[in-house]
Amino acid sequence: MPPDTTYLPGAHPATLDQPGVVDSVQWYDSVWQHSVQQHFDSLEMSYRLYEDQQRPNYPLPEGTMFLIMLIILSVSAYLYIIRPSLRQQKNKQVIRPRTPRDNTVQEIQFDQWLSRYNPYYQSLSFDNKQRFVYRVQQFMLSKEFRFHSMVAEDYIPVLVSAAAVQLTFGLRNYRLDYFDVIHIMRKEYVLNIDQETYYGHVSKNGIHVSWKKFMEGYDDYKDCVNLGLHEMAHALQYDAYLGFEDHHDRYFKERLNEYAAEGRPVFRAMRQGMSYVMDEYALENFDEFWAVSVEMFFENPATFREKLPNLYQEMCELLNQDPAEPGRLLNAELA
Ligand SMILES: [Zn+2]
Repeated sequence: MPPDTTYLPGAHPATLDQPGVVDSVQWYDSVWQHSVQQHFDSLEMSYRLYEDQQRPNYPLPEGTMFLIMLIILSVSAYLYIIRPSLRQQKNKQVIRPRTPRDNTVQEIQFDQWLSRYNPYYQSLSFDNKQRFVYRVQQFMLSKEFRFHSMVAEDYIPVLVSAAAVQLTFGLRNYRLDYFDVIHIMRKEYVLNIDQETYYGHVSKNGIHVSWKKFMEGYDDYKDCVNLGLHEMAHALQYDAYLGFEDHHDRYFKERLNEYAAEGRPVFRAMRQGMSYVMDEYALENFDEFWAVSVEMFFENPATFREKLPNLYQEMCELLNQDPAEPGRLLNAELA
């Protein structure tokens, strides 16, 4: 080993194995450089080993994994943060309390539609029109309107609700709470249960009306054919017998029985061909007799009263109104 050198372990380059070929300074520089290089190499190796040990083994390249994580985070943020807050905002809009101005705008709009399409409404006094519109608003709020094979339009629920409000205008219980849903079909439909064609029907699933037939009923308000009034008459009967007892005027059921006592002999006489005052569909059964008599009661009260005065009087007392004098209540306490 040459003098004046510090021994650096592992420094044995091949060129330095021959003492005397290089001088001591050169030899020292070479050994130093080689040693430092070796030290750096070993550091780099350790770092690589360290990196290899620490780095997780991803099934996909890192860039792809990063993108996937970013997508997962974005979707989670949308699902759990953004969407709930949007929904909350939307719900807030739905339950936003109506201002007096909103109400006035709606009342004016309802008045225009009802004045145009509902002859019963047209014949009411100003005060009764206001009472009618209020009841239509309340009735609509208590129902969900589902449209089938047709475009929903704002005036349709108003006119359908008006048929119920017209029938129950003399009664306190006017919302027909037994029903939550009113189905509006574009035209006639076939029911799977019997493969028959219907323009409307009432079941525990709701009140069903075909819109085309409904409008025909009000277009000709003299022919004693009115689908809206017909179905609402069935619905009123359902509500009285199957609805929540507390919501009912107990006297209404009593009056319904009195109407039946007066109506059954007329119904039997019609079936025996002794009288054809009403549409022959009334002959189907006594429920249809009731619904058809409601149509005639509103659309041709004069003939009804002339031909069947006792039954007409029972109808007036049952519904607490007389269509010959629209809006007049027979008993103010019942309405
Ligand atoms: Zn019917």
